[in-house]
Amino acid sequence: MSFINNWLRSDIQAINAYHVPASDDMVKLDAMESPFPLPDELIGQYLAYLADADLNRYPNPSADELRQTLRELMDIPAEFGVLLGNGSDELIQLLALACETGDTILSIEPSFVMYGMIAKFTRLNYQGVNLDHNFEIDLPATLSAIEAYNPKLIFIAYPNNPTGNTFDRSAIEKIITSTKAMVVLDEAYYAYADDSFLMDIAKYPNLVLLRTVSKIGFAGLRLGLLIGAQDTVNELDKLRLPYNINTLTQVSANFLLQEKEEIDKNAKAILAERTSLSDALNTIEGLVVYPSQANFILFKAPVADALFEALKTQGVLIKNLSAAPRLTDCLRVTVGSAQENAQFIEIVKNHYG
Ligand SMILES: *Cc1c(COP(=O)(O)O)cnc(C)c1O
Repeated sequence: MSFINNWLRSDIQAINAYHVPASDDMVKLDAMESPFPLPDELIGQYLAYLADADLNRYPNPSADELRQTLRELMDIPAEFGVLLGNGSDELIQLLALACETGDTILSIEPSFVMYGMIAKFTRLNYQGVNLDHNFEIDLPATLSAIEAYNPKLIFIAYPNNPTGNTFDRSAIEKIITSTKAMVVLDEAYYAYADDSFLMDIAKYPNLVLLRTVSKIGFAGLRLGLLIGAQDTVNELDKLRLPYNINTLTQVSANFLLQEKEEIDKNAKAILAERTSLSDALNTIEGLVVYPSQANFILFKAPVADALFEALKTQGVLIKNLSAAPRLTDCLRVTVGSAQENAQFIEIVKNHYG
């Protein structure tokens, strides 16, 4: 037996690492990235801004300017606190680190796999509650799981990944008011959704929001934020590693996230493409296309594995969820540029045609 097999916790040995498939030279529609690069006319200014960064120094520890930039970009009221993470994944981990041994994290399923993985890494219990057959929250089942397991943290992605829908607002409000848990609404896809719980933070002391810039054009920056009551943020901030937001991210985001009009314009373009892509999928016989409030679409396809492979062979990478519980024959495609979407649709049509 090797050193590491003797040494490592057996529950970590037993898990499969989060798999990121190779995607060189492929049309990448698997990870909800934005298809839009930085506009040419901004590159010179951006580089000048970057050149001013003092890379011999540690970053600004509290990233004050960046938090202000994010407040303006996302219209976050001054009375709420903002905590930054190296991606919102890091903030999920930080929340788990705030829990005590024996505590339980509860989420809905299917949803974002990191909630369960991070619960495992941090030795917490994890409890998933199944969504109903329309991928809506099963309120009675969720409320009885809350009663039975008394969770410390409840994660709900809103809109949900990988299903793409949001949930009934009153069901979420009922969950928030019927638990002592901190309820974390993960609004990674806020830019593509009709509704948000941002303003509800003032109403519910146990509600916090997660957001990220990954799905609005800046996945490479690794920058996420937690928004909550100021006293909640002040306490959670004790768990944040010093300098977790590096200088290049702070400087880049301070420049790039000022471009609110450009960011809004790109989000609108994705919404229009989402409608066309969904319509195009709907015209293909045999597919079931689920409604989306995000920059991706979940659909069910006959023998999904074969379609996934056909797309891959022809240079288009999407996400195959067909082996996941309750997602038999389901695939998830990110809304890309008009050209990328057309390429994708062409292959799907030919595959079934
Ligand atoms: C993509 C995604 C995230 C991860 O965001 P990062 O800021 O890139 O770490 C978090 N939650 C959900 C639901 C996501 O889909």
